[in-house]
Amino acid sequence: MDLHQKITELKKQKNAVILAHYYQVPEIQEVADYVGDSLGLSQKAAETDAEMIVFAGVHFMAETAKVLNPDKKVLLPDLMAGCSLADSCPPDAFRKLVEAHPDHVVITYVNCSAEVKALSHIICTSSNAEKIVNSVPKDVPIIFAPDKNLGKYIQKKTGRKMLLWDGACIVHEAFSMDKLLKLYKEHPGSKIIAHPESESHILETATYIGSTAGMIDYVKKHPAEKFIVATEAGILHKMQQEVPQAVLIPAPAEEDNTCACSECAFMKMNTLQKLYDCLLHETPQIEVSEEIRKKAILPIERMLELSK
Ligand code: SF4
Repeated sequence: MDLHQKITELKKQKNAVILAHYYQVPEIQEVADYVGDSLGLSQKAAETDAEMIVFAGVHFMAETAKVLNPDKKVLLPDLMAGCSLADSCPPDAFRKLVEAHPDHVVITYVNCSAEVKALSHIICTSSNAEKIVNSVPKDVPIIFAPDKNLGKYIQKKTGRKMLLWDGACIVHEAFSMDKLLKLYKEHPGSKIIAHPESESHILETATYIGSTAGMIDYVKKHPAEKFIVATEAGILHKMQQEVPQAVLIPAPAEEDNTCACSECAFMKMNTLQKLYDCLLHETPQIEVSEEIRKKAILPIERMLELSK
């Protein structure tokens, strides 16, 4: 049996579900029960009746699944699969900011640690950030963390002034404006679509800005066109499967790299072999202390409720 078959067999035997992010390598997306963005993955994690969750994504995503499922085993194929954006918001420094602004509602993007979630009032993803911000009464001030680019974009959309944490994702900040414009000239008439974690000058060039799920939906609505896609390049696999006739070009990164596109080194730490090994040996497991979990689940549940 090849690895794909072995994983499928093992998953049945162990009553496990495999949840994978769009940024995972194609062979992991192929074996997963569900492939989605952060919101979709949180919703699946909240409703699954499997005994074990294998999270093919990065650490904060598996941690969120554990917070929602304390009695289930939650596995992450590679424990070192972190996130530069989550790391840009250390809990102790964030606590100081929150404590200094007790009148503020704290809205935190899902890309953060469980400890930071525990300090927040509502979690959001890029799919629902605008809706979540608009759910807060207009006279109540807001702290938005950790992604300053998403924060600036939501400020513009909602007209709300927010206190922004100075965090960012290294992948979405790596797009090169010069190379993007050069690529656009080579493909006149193409549409630039971008994830709101990208910097403002990149977003200003985009015809569509949205979450990974939103970007896929947008391409589905314009199937015969050509797109320059400014987010992690792993999304192209699912996008092309969903819309085979669309021409998809990854937006170029500043640094020269082998594929001339942006890839998240953390996401790509998971491999099919590591996925198989972790399912077989049921390790590494994600653990969250009960004290943090009890606090972190409240803002996640608020988000899930507001996203129905
Ligand atoms: S693409 Fe950026 S935000 Fe997403 S997991 Fe990688 S480092 Fe984190």
